[in-house]
Amino acid sequence: MRGEGVAGELAVEVRRLVKRFGGRVTAVDELDLSVRPGQTFGLLGPNGAGKTTTIRMLLGLVRPDAGVIRVLGLPPGDPSGLRRVGAMGETAFYPFLSGRDNLRAAARRCQVPDARVAAVLETAGLTARAGDRVSGYSLGMKQRLAVAAALLKDPELLILDEPSSGLDPVGQLEMHQLIQSLAGQGRTILLSSHDMREVEELCSRVAVIGGGRLLAEGTPGQLRGQARVWVRAEPAGQAAAVVAELAGLEETERAGDMLSLVMREPGPSQVAAVNRQLVEAGLEVSEVRTERRPLRDVFLDLTGGRSGGADSLRPPAGKRKRRAGRAPGQAP
Ligand code: ATP
Repeated sequence: MRGEGVAGELAVEVRRLVKRFGGRVTAVDELDLSVRPGQTFGLLGPNGAGKTTTIRMLLGLVRPDAGVIRVLGLPPGDPSGLRRVGAMGETAFYPFLSGRDNLRAAARRCQVPDARVAAVLETAGLTARAGDRVSGYSLGMKQRLAVAAALLKDPELLILDEPSSGLDPVGQLEMHQLIQSLAGQGRTILLSSHDMREVEELCSRVAVIGGGRLLAEGTPGQLRGQARVWVRAEPAGQAAAVVAELAGLEETERAGDMLSLVMREPGPSQVAAVNRQLVEAGLEVSEVRTERRPLRDVFLDLTGGRSGGADSLRPPAGKRKRRAGRAPGQAP
């Protein structure tokens, strides 16, 4: 069965990885990653964070300046390892050939039997349009063709670099369904993205990177931390005074027109207690609910709300300001 591998062996292991371009740009800076077999692992970072450079080093296309990489237990670019890895972007498509003929050409190049072409077209939902020229494909179809090409080798490890980039909501949904079905087959998937919703929906584990460094790592739930109690009540000033007296309150923060409370044990009974206190104090309560911080806020806090390239590195820790809290769903 897929995803088992040698006991304890990681699908991808990266230790203290460094890549510099020229003297000035440190694209990847002492990065550590551990991807377990069968995981859908998100590499989340803003533009220029070092995601593509990391992926290119995993594939043996870029040589690291320092650090250790093991892909399926082998050094990057090892031919026997590459046979078990499929990556989006490995194949350039001829626009005047059909999707099917492009995949046939790619299958020949990676010595895969022609029979795989029909299988991967079906998986990517392209069978009906397989005979059409690629030049007439929508962006979503081209992206799915790139995933189909990456699947030709029936890889244990599938590397997807921003697969939904530029797609409209329908294209994104189709891509997400495709990735979910591939993950369901027990394949290991490394997915780079700057779309937090995508990572949260698809990945069981996430590494947030910025300026080439690992900023945080965990399940989406761990990254979002403890659930908070969100309160909307009028007048807001009085509501803040009432909640300040609540038993079990650890922290309170104004987030737009809402109050965000960190409670010792957030749950239905706490929500009911908060609501009761506010109503008994004569306040008009329109909303009380528990929710974790949106991953977007965690991401913006971690990356300092800026893009992650070497030209926009985070300020030193002491100079970083805490962002004001936002209510879930509220625009930054
Ligand atoms: P994006 O989401 O925009 O694709 P990314 O996270 O994939 O970004 P990278 O493409 O890995 O980021 O780039 C990381 C940094 O390294 C950027 O500052 C980029 O300008 C720089 N960089 C990448 N490749 C090269 C190169 N060949 N020469 C010089 N600088 C480079």
